[in-house]
Amino acid sequence: MSYSMHVFINDTHIGDSEIGFVTVRGLVCEPYSHAYFCPCCGEIWARIFIDVEPQHWMVSTMLCAKHGLGSIWREWDKEYMDALPIEALKLEFLLAYDDPQWYFDFPYRPRDLSAAAMMKADLPDF
Ligand SMILES: [Zn+2]
Repeated sequence: MSYSMHVFINDTHIGDSEIGFVTVRGLVCEPYSHAYFCPCCGEIWARIFIDVEPQHWMVSTMLCAKHGLGSIWREWDKEYMDALPIEALKLEFLLAYDDPQWYFDFPYRPRDLSAAAMMKADLPDF
C-alpha cells in the first residue's frame, strides 16, 4: 500500500512522490501529513500533505527561510525523508551547499543569533 505525498513550501508546490506505511514507536501505521511551524513568525511555511483518509496532521517546529534555514529535513523521520520527491531533495542539497555550517551544525538555530551568542547559550548559568 502506498500513499501520495505532496510537498509545498510557502504555498508553492515542490513535487510529488509516494510513501508506504511508517513506523511510530514500533507500531506500523498509515503516514500522516506534516505542517512546518516557524517559532519566530508563527507561520505554517511548509506542508507535506499525505493523501490519506482520515486526515491527520503533525506539527514540526522548524525555522522558516526568513528566520533560519527553511529546511524541511527531519533526520529523525527517516521513512518520510526517504520518500521525499527529488525536487525537495534538490532544494535540501542547495541549502547545504550554500551554507554548510548552518545546515550541518546549527540547523535549528535562528540566523540572527551570533556564534558567540550560541556558544554562550549552551553554557549553564553560574
Ligand atoms: Zn519565520
